[in-house]
Amino acid sequence: MRKLLGAVCLSFVLFISSAQDLDYYLPDSITYNPSIPKPKDIIHHEVGEWHVTHDRLVNYMKAIATAAPERIKLETMGFTYEQRPQVLLIITSPKNHQRLEEIRQQHLLLSDPSKSGSLNIENMPIVTWIGHSIHGNEPSGSNASLLSVYYLAAAQGKKIDDLLENVVILLDPSFNPDGLQRFSTWVNQHKGKNLVTDANSREFNEVWPGGRFNHYWFDLNRDWLPAVHVESQNRLSWFHKWKPNVLTDHHEQGSNATFFFQPGVPSRVNPLTPAKNQELTAKLGKYHAAFLDRIGSMYFTKENYDDFYYGKGSTYPDVNGAIGILFEQGSSRGHAQQTTNGILRFPFTIKNQFITALSTLEGAKALRTEFLNFQRDFYKGVVAEAASAPVKAYVFGDDNDLGKTNTFLTMLLRHQIDVHNLKSIIKADGYEFKNGTAYIVPAAQPQHRLIKAIFEKTLSYKDSLFYDITSWTMPLAFGLPYAELNAAQFNANLLGDKFTDVQKSTQTAIAKSDYAYLLPWTELLAPAALYELQTAGVITKVATNPFEININGVPKKMAYGTILIPVKIQSMNSNEVFEKIKMVAEKHNIALHVITSGSALSGSDLGSSRFVNVEMPKVAMIAGAGVNPLDAGEFWHLMDQRMNIPLTLLEPSVFNRVDLNKYNTIVLVSGNYNELNKDKLKAWVQGGGNLIVMEEAVSWAATAGISNVTIKKIRSAADSTQMLAYANKDEVQGAQAMRGAIFRAEADLTHPLAYGYQYPFVSMFKANKVFMEKSKNPFATPFYYKGDPLQSGWLSKQNKDAVKNSAAVIVSGLGSGKVISIADNPNFRAFWLGGTKLMMNALFFGKIIDTNFSTE
Ligand SMILES: [Zn+2]
Repeated sequence: MRKLLGAVCLSFVLFISSAQDLDYYLPDSITYNPSIPKPKDIIHHEVGEWHVTHDRLVNYMKAIATAAPERIKLETMGFTYEQRPQVLLIITSPKNHQRLEEIRQQHLLLSDPSKSGSLNIENMPIVTWIGHSIHGNEPSGSNASLLSVYYLAAAQGKKIDDLLENVVILLDPSFNPDGLQRFSTWVNQHKGKNLVTDANSREFNEVWPGGRFNHYWFDLNRDWLPAVHVESQNRLSWFHKWKPNVLTDHHEQGSNATFFFQPGVPSRVNPLTPAKNQELTAKLGKYHAAFLDRIGSMYFTKENYDDFYYGKGSTYPDVNGAIGILFEQGSSRGHAQQTTNGILRFPFTIKNQFITALSTLEGAKALRTEFLNFQRDFYKGVVAEAASAPVKAYVFGDDNDLGKTNTFLTMLLRHQIDVHNLKSIIKADGYEFKNGTAYIVPAAQPQHRLIKAIFEKTLSYKDSLFYDITSWTMPLAFGLPYAELNAAQFNANLLGDKFTDVQKSTQTAIAKSDYAYLLPWTELLAPAALYELQTAGVITKVATNPFEININGVPKKMAYGTILIPVKIQSMNSNEVFEKIKMVAEKHNIALHVITSGSALSGSDLGSSRFVNVEMPKVAMIAGAGVNPLDAGEFWHLMDQRMNIPLTLLEPSVFNRVDLNKYNTIVLVSGNYNELNKDKLKAWVQGGGNLIVMEEAVSWAATAGISNVTIKKIRSAADSTQMLAYANKDEVQGAQAMRGAIFRAEADLTHPLAYGYQYPFVSMFKANKVFMEKSKNPFATPFYYKGDPLQSGWLSKQNKDAVKNSAAVIVSGLGSGKVISIADNPNFRAFWLGGTKLMMNALFFGKIIDTNFSTE
């Protein structure tokens, strides 16, 4: 290292090549099987010389599995959005490979308390999952996987034989293939023959949105629990196929940092994680320390990072009887970068990741029986825990929203949670749950702790500093009616058959009408169905008044927002209309109603002007530098994946030069819009445009004079009369952060922005400090907070005061257009389905909202 530092003082150019042959990385005094291809034989460069692209990474993994079939089996878990394979290498001794399925089956019994007692742990290998670079621009992990695989395939001698005999290694070379490919292309295309170490250079400054994210700009390291994305879904099915004892998650941190390995901050461990988990994490940490000491690498532990949110790769295993390990290597980002610790070279970062993969395997081998016993005890302990828990079951379901209920069910099944059909009607928590459309999750089952993590609310914390969100109560997020059943409410007779697969609803079979159809707006995917009808040229109307009407001779109450499709006003004949209706009903699994008479039993008749034509949304979202890519990705994903509505992704510079008249709706998620021509945007709204602004964009639009929203001021955490210890600065300030908590907003169900909601309240997710005063127009704040709206999560006193009686959503008029300001994030991580209807209402019904109000 000293020689390198000398070279740096002269200039930013590093006059030595970054290329290192394998000797730089591999442990000494080990012989390697010469018939095994080295990485360079397949990827055409040394490890660390260039950033490996995902394509080449997969080529190597295939080549080595072919060359060493007695040690390695390659599986394809599935494909990413961009159709890249997610490969998993199963690496173990030839003997273990011969009875791999038997080993797997036996291993799974550890998590079955009814059968695990008879297992002989002495004879069982430990299962260890080595995972890399879930953030695509933290590449040292994936590049190190080339070395790990080579070593495990080619090393010879007693040591490796022992390791492979005692460990089944599941090696996942890339948790995020699309991100890795995007990032590697970026850094490689900016690499010079002479390495430039100046952090200002383009190599180290990716263009928006960067390689951290997957195709839809999501952070996959928050998706282990909601499992919204294909990458997580494919991986989870293999996780539960094997239920590993250890799972490693190789990341990178800031360039000036050294190397971090868990345990993290003790007070920030999720209370559902057993203390023994942290004990074992620390035991494994001794191996990482010893291995890093040996190569002279600096590291730290027990600081900064936490184990709280179960949606992360290093935390999800903790609630599954396993140990998740987070590694964070200081990032060279490109090939070599100037840092406070001298020049940080890419090969050095790779070496640390490789070394800690080896220390993990060594530790896992040595602590094998302890880890296996821990997993068995974790699931055994759950039986007694569930028996003494006050909540005996959770019941949920929405008979007017099968789409959302099914999405929730699918999520539970991915985590191997037992769900039963509800056998009889039950009333709880103000809801009535019906058999056929409601489901029940008994608390007494192996996934007891994970069930608590999914259903419980949290209002007390050991610490006020968080690395990520502080609450994620899933039924609240989904906006699903649910209730906890205690011993007095629960009995086994409520449990119907075990639910195994989401079925298509039989109600979607529909008859032809010559008069009209009704599409209920309560369904999650009703907007997708509406848009599809609009695209097909079908004229649609929305009910701005509720009504009761005969459906097959039975009177039925229809709510605000019901979509009416009259037959005879269409330009197509009734057969053609029927074909379209049938198609959308089947495709989106929605039951539409057949209407034969326009006469309502109460409320508006179908010919009333209270049924208003719905204009087809033509939507652009500002996407590019300054915009929060996560929030932008959430809206893009909602439109593209869930609703099948095309969305123009408009760069700020493109926005500034193009004609905006082809869009009737423009969306600004949180971000910095200083580059946007605000006069042009204002003129477009005045001309009749429908502008939707969210989170920080709410403040921007208010300041720019586009909306007339007043932002509340927040009191400071400490006033100038107080003297506080300097050492407490981070803690005092950190406690004021809004990392993400859940609030109950009151909803005005008669307002077009609340169409489709069935209860006069909705759970909102807030991870910002945008608090709005209620509008002076009493009809323009359809969602607002009362005095104490916190449902779950951490909230400081100051933020509590700010959210009190504030507005969640405000509509303001400007010229003939509208601005819809949403203070919170209605699309959070794509599992906040409780906000979906609000978002879709803003898109489809923003136009029909009357914002005129006179005080005279
Ligand atoms: Zn990371």
